[in-house]
Amino acid sequence: MEGAIAPLMLALLVSSEISALLPNPASAYRAQGRTAARGGGGGGAVYPEFRSNYGTIRWISDQMPIKVYIAPGLTLDSIIDPSLGAPFTNVDGRDRWPDLVADVISNPQTFQSLQVAQGYVPEHFQAAVQGINSWKAFERDGIRFQIVEDPGDADIHVFWTNHFVNKLGLGLFQNDIRGYTAKRSFPYKAIMSGKQAQFKPVVTLLRTTESNGVTMPFMKMKASAAHEFGHALGIEGHSPYPSDLMSVYYGRGAISTNDAATIRYLYRMTPDLIP
Ligand SMILES: [Zn+2]
Repeated sequence: MEGAIAPLMLALLVSSEISALLPNPASAYRAQGRTAARGGGGGGAVYPEFRSNYGTIRWISDQMPIKVYIAPGLTLDSIIDPSLGAPFTNVDGRDRWPDLVADVISNPQTFQSLQVAQGYVPEHFQAAVQGINSWKAFERDGIRFQIVEDPGDADIHVFWTNHFVNKLGLGLFQNDIRGYTAKRSFPYKAIMSGKQAQFKPVVTLLRTTESNGVTMPFMKMKASAAHEFGHALGIEGHSPYPSDLMSVYYGRGAISTNDAATIRYLYRMTPDLIP
């Protein structure tokens, strides 16, 4: 229609932990009969699951350094959706987390009312920093980020929760999900052609306790933070190889050669979407 402004197509992507729901990933991978590309350099295999249903997603150089805010223990769980009587941070409502965090950081009163998550210990902050900083290994591949102290400056926000709840507010204690990352992404070509986009925070929530309620151990928290940051960078799905950080099993808790090959491959591509 002449003169009409085409609304910018908006794709919402949510990455999540679904380990409790999946069969053995290696057999599922074989059953699908796919082959992994060789990443070149380092000998790892690129796992195609990095790609979302909407295409490839990654940050572009204009967005770098990506700014990462790690809240000192703060939880958003006190913010209740009145229509549900459950926290906005329920895992069924992950598509709204970016808006929630945008609202919270633009409202000082709300931000200052946030409490520290039960089960959080100061070591968790250091674990998150170390896990996230393990991706600094890819600065030469064009991934640049820095941890900032002002949430108003940040592109990626890390908050905490004692345990996840569903939209009924019921605790999800039965599974071993340690984190979720939610992002909203926009078509790269539309942005490049000058269309305006309302970018929203990428939101990661990390769980402070294991399924038995015990405080999350340091190395597990480090692995959780590193894994979720892999999602924040654009590895949308999970590696089928259990020994990879980006598998649903967190691998050995560190970036593997397959993870390295995959992130390098992704950051050589022209993205379909940018966060
Ligand atoms: Zn994951």
